[in-house]
Amino acid sequence: MKRLLTSLFLFISLMTFGQTSYSEILNNCTLSTVTDFFMVEKDEVLNKFRDYCVDGTGKNEKFAVLLDWKSMPFTDTGFKFENGFHQNMLHKSVAYDYLYIKDIIIPIKQGCAKYESYTTIYTFKCDAATLNTIKSDRKPLRLLAIFKPGFFMDAWIDHYCAVPVGLYLVNKDTGAVLLNLSSYLKNINITTEKQKLTRANRVKVAEERQSSGNTQPTKMVRCNTCHGTGQQKWEYPNKTKYETCQTCAGRGYVPALW
Ligand SMILES: [Zn+2]
Repeated sequence: MKRLLTSLFLFISLMTFGQTSYSEILNNCTLSTVTDFFMVEKDEVLNKFRDYCVDGTGKNEKFAVLLDWKSMPFTDTGFKFENGFHQNMLHKSVAYDYLYIKDIIIPIKQGCAKYESYTTIYTFKCDAATLNTIKSDRKPLRLLAIFKPGFFMDAWIDHYCAVPVGLYLVNKDTGAVLLNLSSYLKNINITTEKQKLTRANRVKVAEERQSSGNTQPTKMVRCNTCHGTGQQKWEYPNKTKYETCQTCAGRGYVPALW
């Protein structure tokens, strides 16, 4: 049965979505009105998703977001999405395991995300023909993410972890699905994912350490918020500001608390 499901999944992954309209993919999904990253926190649809994550209901409800990423540079073998919002409340061991839609995190496979000059870069590969189509289609491209409620992690920045369903590159104007990126998503077990994430919550780890009376000096490690630069990048709709890193006070390193 498992093999059958795997084959079925592979078959679906390998199907060409060039002629598909994303409205078909959105069947039974509640589409968020958000396309701009800065509206994510106020969106009603996503608030419903957050509620489900907190109370553990709505496990079969599917949510969808069409995201306009900041920029989309091409590579020889595909393209990248740059996400200016860098999530810094997680230990670096798991920081790149998620696609961040602000406080909503979608588990992805390793190797897709990495940090580069104040930005999280997601790299996707595709064949030459698809790449040409994407290049000529460039302007109204969006990343369509579909997911179900997962769980909530209480932290300084709360995290709402989604169960990934699908990820696509679409043309918002024509409705065409240009590329199925779902193979970049990671199948998760909610229980183990929650344990992993909780362990990686740096604020909780620091609190526990303090409450246990462990005040021994620790070695200093590179700051995970600013990656040792001492500066933090803040993005606003019309400007970008650099400020002294709040985590390390500009020193670029912090005591290792884990
Ligand atoms: Zn720092």
